[in-house]
Amino acid sequence: MKFYLEENLEKLARWLRFLGYPAYTIKGEINLSKIKPDGVFITTSRRWYERLKKLGINAFLVPRHDFELQLCSVVKHFKLRHELSLNLCAYCSSPLVSVSREEVREKIPKRVYEEGEDFTLCPGCGAVFWKGSHYERMKRKLEEILKKC
Ligand SMILES: [Zn+2]
Repeated sequence: MKFYLEENLEKLARWLRFLGYPAYTIKGEINLSKIKPDGVFITTSRRWYERLKKLGINAFLVPRHDFELQLCSVVKHFKLRHELSLNLCAYCSSPLVSVSREEVREKIPKRVYEEGEDFTLCPGCGAVFWKGSHYERMKRKLEEILKKC
């Protein structure tokens, strides 16, 4: 399952990537040429939602401002997994590759080199990820949010 989102839904897109689903934000004004038929288009605009539905394009409407409600409704509607998968880049959705801490030594702060675990590298944009204290925080945050669904 793949998602395309309005530019203002970047936070939601990032969390969909954390769950392991490719999510791409569409930069700038939405127009039909930017909407690809191989995924679901997530929008906050009822006008666009109705328009796309009429054209037979898979679209999903989320509330405009409440990020937690947005994530909940998408997870529930599409029966997405309730766990962090962290196998996709948080920025560009490319599948991450496992690397040793030595391989990314020059790209990360010294403290992370010493304390981080499970290093991964994005072949798409070069970003480096690792498990640290933020990982537990993200897990708790996700549980909190999904409890509200
Ligand atoms: Zn990337």
